[in-house]
Amino acid sequence: MLIETFIRKQLGLKAHTVTRVEETEDYMIIHIDRLGSRLLRCGLCRQRCRKVHSVRQPREWRDLSMRKLPLKLRYRPRRVECPRCGVRVEDFPWAEPWARVTTALSNAVAKLARELSWQGTARQYGLNWKSVATIVKRAVQYGLKNRSRPPVHVIGIDEVSRRKGQVYLTVVYDLERRVLLWVGDDRTEEAVRPFFTKEMGRRRCPTLQVICMDMWAAYANLVKEHAPQAQILFDRFHIVKHLNEAVEEVRRSEMRRLSQKEKVAFKRSRWLLLKNPWNLSDDQKERLSTLVRWNAPIVRAYYLKEAFQMFWDYQQPKRAEDHLEKWMRSAMRSRLEPFKKFVSLSG
Ligand SMILES: [Zn+2]
Repeated sequence: MLIETFIRKQLGLKAHTVTRVEETEDYMIIHIDRLGSRLLRCGLCRQRCRKVHSVRQPREWRDLSMRKLPLKLRYRPRRVECPRCGVRVEDFPWAEPWARVTTALSNAVAKLARELSWQGTARQYGLNWKSVATIVKRAVQYGLKNRSRPPVHVIGIDEVSRRKGQVYLTVVYDLERRVLLWVGDDRTEEAVRPFFTKEMGRRRCPTLQVICMDMWAAYANLVKEHAPQAQILFDRFHIVKHLNEAVEEVRRSEMRRLSQKEKVAFKRSRWLLLKNPWNLSDDQKERLSTLVRWNAPIVRAYYLKEAFQMFWDYQQPKRAEDHLEKWMRSAMRSRLEPFKKFVSLSG
């Protein structure tokens, strides 16, 4: 068998062929050309293209060595006219579009780099350290990109704290399949960004439909930026927590203004606020009105919180929505800063 034929088979060439094998002191150079008028594929979508647009300058790819002599492939890439993608560089059966080494060499390097140091791997294949680093990184990316990943529609983003709240991580779950998708280093916008840009990427972000998260979270902007089609859902647990915090904030700032006598009276009557007004006795109503007179802000805060909770009881979305809108208007008019903040964040 001619060495040309042998190499052509090794490389799995179909639309290309080996025209010549040149031996120099340092390399064996495999000259490759297009085979007749066989159709070439688009480098982007891999569809076969009828028309060749142009022929480019020769390019070289490092390949596995042959008897210690490093191989180089040399070929003048064609640019094809893809009906889908326009004029593109053709697809190379022996290498990834970005690569300067063949897929065979890159696989061998990536595998060996798991056993040897990068330095040792580089020496083994006559590459420099940087090329090995690039190959390993690319191989990892390639592996990640091509591992089968079903589309993700509903995710939950949450934070977990380690070491008693000193260290935060962000975790992302696929809520349909109930699997952990991703873990980020921190809970900041910057830490979560790679989930959208790398893990999901531009290709997969559009499949996101619903994103459940804490309304206070730093990543709402990321969703707007990378998955604007997705609906953000603030879950009930987080909403109630923030409502309680808003009430507590109002209560604390108002209690500071009350006299000691008023404070005691207030503490005794506070539960009245949690009752439905029509269930109160006359005496209780009297006490409640005193309470309201003394401290309108706290009372308003309680009522706002309670009114909001009715939202969960609606069965019909339209009525729930009306309720929510009304509630937001009254919260904005309440002159209670914590509630205004709540509204602006949930809107
Ligand atoms: Zn194409």
